[in-house]
Amino acid sequence: MISEWDILINEIRNCRKCSLYLSRKNVVPGEGSVITDIMFIGEAPGSTEDETGRPFVGAAGRLLTQLIESIGLKRDEIYITNIVKCRPPENRDPSDDEIKMCYPYLVKQIQLIKPRLIVCLGRHSARTLFKESGLKWRSMNSMHGRVYSVKLYGLDLKIIATFHPAAALYNPGLRKELEKDFKIIMDIIYEIKGSSEKKTKSLLDFLR
Ligand code: URA
Repeated sequence: MISEWDILINEIRNCRKCSLYLSRKNVVPGEGSVITDIMFIGEAPGSTEDETGRPFVGAAGRLLTQLIESIGLKRDEIYITNIVKCRPPENRDPSDDEIKMCYPYLVKQIQLIKPRLIVCLGRHSARTLFKESGLKWRSMNSMHGRVYSVKLYGLDLKIIATFHPAAALYNPGLRKELEKDFKIIMDIIYEIKGSSEKKTKSLLDFLR
């Protein structure tokens, strides 16, 4: 039986809503576990992601994987995706229009996964998701590492913003901040895991 999730991923893979489809090699819908409490949301695929169809597998992705593993998680137990699912040419920032066109796919992914924690990687992800959560976005410097309890698309969840790993690659100061933020992320995950029995989300959620 084809699940609602499969239909969504298929739709994302065939999307031609904005001009990014003209230059992409592969769409990057996301990867990891859909039965998870935790979603990491970045900006847009880069060249390695465009080549492979997988999120965060280039240099920034290697740093992200290290950070994830440093707090005792594995990539395959969380879901990793981006605000925009196709690579903007020359790795430019995604435009507001591209974000607007692509965002409904992320909304559907969030509604199906039902995370209890969303980690926003970078300012595009953070400003979009914070605004959707009813929070006023100021700047990464003033808001990173702070945990907010919000209601997003009917879900009670926590949201936190941190620097994009690409920004920390050649900036030791930012990398320290990113590492500190990941310690905070680890604390939230322990809190979430401790406060409830392991999530018993049934596969039926995805088969509807
Ligand atoms: N940067 C992002 O924001 N996402 C990726 O998937 C890779 C690099």
